[in-house]
Amino acid sequence: TSFENYNLSDDITKALSVLKYETLTEVQREVIPRALENNDLVVKSQTGSGKTASFGIPICEMMEWEEKKPQTLILTPTRELAVQVREDITNIGRFKRIKAMAVYGKEPFAKQKEELKQKTHVVVGTPGRVVDHIERETLSLDNIKYLVIDEADEMLNMGFINKVESIIKQLPTNRVTMVFSATLPKDVENLCHKYMKDPINIEI
Ligand code: AMP
Repeated sequence: TSFENYNLSDDITKALSVLKYETLTEVQREVIPRALENNDLVVKSQTGSGKTASFGIPICEMMEWEEKKPQTLILTPTRELAVQVREDITNIGRFKRIKAMAVYGKEPFAKQKEELKQKTHVVVGTPGRVVDHIERETLSLDNIKYLVIDEADEMLNMGFINKVESIIKQLPTNRVTMVFSATLPKDVENLCHKYMKDPINIEI
């Protein structure tokens, strides 16, 4: 299947052709059309399956460029993953001029605070630093319409699940939530059950 079947905007289509993404991976075939229809999704898939683009493509497509405050929040268990996801989103959103930034510990708070004052469509971050920014009111959640929890099982393993839950509780309820995880431990399932709206389960 080619990306041409999905009525993506010219800006996104052009970026995919620069990236040489010609056919969709399995997870992309399952996720992209459903995400474009604003469904909540629980996706069981491994890294290397193309999962980042499976949420990155529909999210870039749906961002309103004019809006100044962040519209998407992506939570990752590690700084390395946050940086990688930020890069992938930037590449996919290049021609739409999507601004994605990564917030994580070990980098000066003040630098991130300044960057968050600029227009930002997508914030990718680790739970601890995201909580810091929320508490110090340097990250506005008012306009978040999309939440992605990437590697949810790793969040659990690393002891971040309470932080993730405290972040979810502060988000607007009128939003789309996508959870990606290689495995679905009970605590992750409970979280999905508690905070998602009739999620579609996808297993790759
Ligand atoms: P991920 O599972 O998101 O870490 O992606 C694994 C790798 O596959 C990354 O290097 C992506 O750039 C690449 N990739 C993702 N989607 C596609 C696609 N549709 N065609 C070719 N490569 C892709």
